[in-house]
Amino acid sequence: MFRYPCVVEFGIVNLGRKTGGGKLNMDRDTSLGRRLFLAFLVIAGLPALTGLWGWIQLADVERDQNALINNTLPAIIDVRGFTEESSKVVAAAPEFAAVTREEDRVQRAAYLFGQVDALRQRLERNRNHSNLPPYALSVTVMDMRNSIGVLDVLVQRRIAALDQQRAQLAAGLEAAAELSDIADTLVANAEAGSSAVVTSLYDFARRPSDPEGYFQTLDKLVEVDLFQLGLMFDMRAQTAELGMILSRIAAAGTPEALALAGRDLTRSTDIITRRIRAVQDPMRAAHARQLLQVIAPQDGRPDDLNAVSARLLDINARIVTVEASVRAAAAQMDREAAALAEEIHARAVVSGGQASATIKFARQLTTLGAVSALLVSLAVLWFYVRGNILRRLEGLAATMARLAGGDTRRPVVPSGNDEIARMEAAVEIFRRQAIANRDLEDERSRHLDELNQHRNELQRLVQDQTEQLRGEVAAHAEARHRAEAADRAKSEFLAMMSHELRTPMNGVLGMLRSLGRDPLTHRQRSYLRAAEVSGHGLMAILNDILYLPLIESGRLIETVSTFRIGELVQDITFLMSPVAQEKGIALLHVLPDDLPPALRGDVAKLRQILFNLVANALKFTAEGRVVVTVETLPGDGGRAWFLISVSDTGKGISEQARERIFEVFEQENPATARQYGGTGLGLAICRRFAEVMGGTLSVDSTPGVGSVFALRVGFLPGKVGDLPAPDIHFPAPQRPLSVLVVEDHAINRMVVETYLEAGGHHWQIAETGEAAVAAVAAERFDVVLMDVNLPGVSGTEATRRIRALPDPRRAMVPVIGISAHVQPDQISENLDAGMIHVLAKPLTPRQLHAALTAITPQARDDGDLLQAMLADFGRARTIMIARAFLDRMDADLAAITAAGQQGAYDKLSGAAHRMKGAAGNLGLDGLVGCLQDLESSARAADRATVTRDLDLLADLAARTRLELVRALDRLDAQQVSPAEP
Ligand code: ADP
Repeated sequence: MFRYPCVVEFGIVNLGRKTGGGKLNMDRDTSLGRRLFLAFLVIAGLPALTGLWGWIQLADVERDQNALINNTLPAIIDVRGFTEESSKVVAAAPEFAAVTREEDRVQRAAYLFGQVDALRQRLERNRNHSNLPPYALSVTVMDMRNSIGVLDVLVQRRIAALDQQRAQLAAGLEAAAELSDIADTLVANAEAGSSAVVTSLYDFARRPSDPEGYFQTLDKLVEVDLFQLGLMFDMRAQTAELGMILSRIAAAGTPEALALAGRDLTRSTDIITRRIRAVQDPMRAAHARQLLQVIAPQDGRPDDLNAVSARLLDINARIVTVEASVRAAAAQMDREAAALAEEIHARAVVSGGQASATIKFARQLTTLGAVSALLVSLAVLWFYVRGNILRRLEGLAATMARLAGGDTRRPVVPSGNDEIARMEAAVEIFRRQAIANRDLEDERSRHLDELNQHRNELQRLVQDQTEQLRGEVAAHAEARHRAEAADRAKSEFLAMMSHELRTPMNGVLGMLRSLGRDPLTHRQRSYLRAAEVSGHGLMAILNDILYLPLIESGRLIETVSTFRIGELVQDITFLMSPVAQEKGIALLHVLPDDLPPALRGDVAKLRQILFNLVANALKFTAEGRVVVTVETLPGDGGRAWFLISVSDTGKGISEQARERIFEVFEQENPATARQYGGTGLGLAICRRFAEVMGGTLSVDSTPGVGSVFALRVGFLPGKVGDLPAPDIHFPAPQRPLSVLVVEDHAINRMVVETYLEAGGHHWQIAETGEAAVAAVAAERFDVVLMDVNLPGVSGTEATRRIRALPDPRRAMVPVIGISAHVQPDQISENLDAGMIHVLAKPLTPRQLHAALTAITPQARDDGDLLQAMLADFGRARTIMIARAFLDRMDADLAAITAAGQQGAYDKLSGAAHRMKGAAGNLGLDGLVGCLQDLESSARAADRATVTRDLDLLADLAARTRLELVRALDRLDAQQVSPAEP
């Protein structure tokens, strides 16, 4: 089996030589991975390079485009804004030129200057963010600004000239109007003069005497007055035209019109001047000349209306010229801006052209890169990967498939020194390994055939052996079965025997207790006590034998009560002293002075241990003495610890047997059994008991000298008040009860009857469970004492049936169980069935008394009677009430009895009720309970129950009377307290 790895190693070594001195390490220069990496670099590198170049080109394009966006476009926007603003100036210039008010002029001038300044700022801005040089534009803008400045000055002058012209015209018109008034007056005067001459001509007609006068007058009229009148009329006509001529001068739009109007004015003023000379009133003539001077100054002043109007015409002409120059500047600006825009556009076009050329180049470059990368990749894949790797891998796969198919003839020769070559070398190793494996497989199948033959032989052998073993196992199982059956039979036998023994023992113990009621001498009483103690010891042994299965299964429990340890030791030595006396052996006990007055622990088990040890010591000692010694040990865990040793001067125990004798059914040797009898059970039980109590039991012995059995055990401290009174005294009588005793065993019945009789109770007997159920269904009882182990229907089942009775008063009767089996699970089964309490056999009067007391309030002792009343009413009144009750008692009882005998139940219940009230006052609880029962049964008209309750009442009344009399006697005997009322 070790040849396999050798073959592999051999293959590697061989191959190493073949492939060049065993160089199986990876050669970095020729490794497949490196070459694949190079191929990858070639495939991926070319597109990456072209991509990089294209990226650089596109970065230039991006820069140009950014310049276009950042410089050219704002410049175009500026040029457009420029044109718009210059056209606003051109539009506003004529309005400005036509302004005739000073405030309008100021406003328009500000607007125009603002526009021109905006143009200049735009130019400045444009110069800042563009490298275009719009100097011509700046000069044009400056020209425009100057022209607007000149225009502003001219407009300002024209407004001043207009104001002057308006004032001159107004003054002229006013003077013309006044002159017209004077001319009217002069006409009127001339008309009046003419009229007067004509009138005087009438006088001459009436007086033809004076024809000279007449003609003179007529001549004067024709030559002077009518001529004057004609002159004045002419003057008035000329003055009337003056206003119109002045208005024409002011409104003259051309120099020619102005000259014509001026000539007309001169002509009129000349005529008027001449007519003024004909005015006869020199004052009026002077005033008229003054007015004429106002209308047309003769001294040629520069501010006369004509001169002002001529200046206005001049200013207007110059304004037109300047306005034209503004327009020309604007037109020039438009042209220059258009030229600028064209230049910008040209540049943008150049930049865009460059960008598209670059993009085109980058695209071509990328395409070229991609195509060449594809071609290079294909070439690499085709010539290198396919030719160099895939083909070799396919060859390798085919070789492996061949090998897997079992064709191992052709060797695999590695080509080169890369990974595939190494794989080929490995495949070659596998090929050789496969050849070796096949050889091995052949050998293995040969061995397997041999092995199969051996195995078949072995199987046959095993089958034979198994058959043999099966027979033995069956025999062992049979033997074990028999042993277990024997063990079970032993336990059952023991249980049955102890049970059968316990039943008569109960009777014996009961009779012994009954004896105790009779008057006995001191000696008889001590014998009686010894017999009873002995009986208890025997019962304990029987119990222990009964519990042997429990001991073996470890289910033994501790039963704690209060006891005196010294008294226990004394009892045992006293009990065993007759045996010792009989054998001539001294039986002694040694007790220390500092024993605790009372202890709490499992006294029954302790008693059994000591009893057993003392009995053994006496049994195995022929002469000498047996000593029971109690020593106190240091306390521990709240317990008082004791070493109780039983030493003897007997035959001793051999060393080999010293531990064995503590096993169940083990004795020192068969000879012991033959000579001394016994079961070999006692020490085993004693040691288990000691362990249950938390102690140890050991032995020290010298054959031929004697043995010392040592019990180390601890007990809790107990209260003296908890110590039990000796069982042979009956407790004080209590309220008589009607009791149903269910017991099949005659002796046990007698024992129970004896106890009940001593307690003053009434009873009936039922021997079976069925009879018990029937009795409870038929009659009312205060309590049922139920033996648990009845033949047929058990006490447990009978209790269940009683609880299932239809009448709730009957179904609820208290049932007290009596059983020899008082393990916790057995007790709980009976309590579940409906029992209120389970008493352990053998029954003691104390147990029974306590159980019966628990179901009915106990009457107080004589000493307690009337105590409650004394506390409430004081001594004198208590005595008075008690005496009154006693005086009436006989009469009440007689009435109750008579009513009962007559069957007058109403009367009976009434009388019982009244007497119950009186008894309640005195605290006579027993009598109250009895009367309550009687009242109820009278109400129910139940004759049988009434009869029974009447009997009970008679009995209880007699006892109560006695107790009351005694209590009154005691009260009488007491001294009267001075403080009492
Ligand atoms: P039994 O006494 O019924 O045989 P025990 O378990 O009490 O059963 O005792 C077992 C054995 O131990 C006895 O048979 C006896 O051989 C030995 N033995 C017990 N006590 C003494 C003793 N005090 N002296 C000598 N041998 C004893």
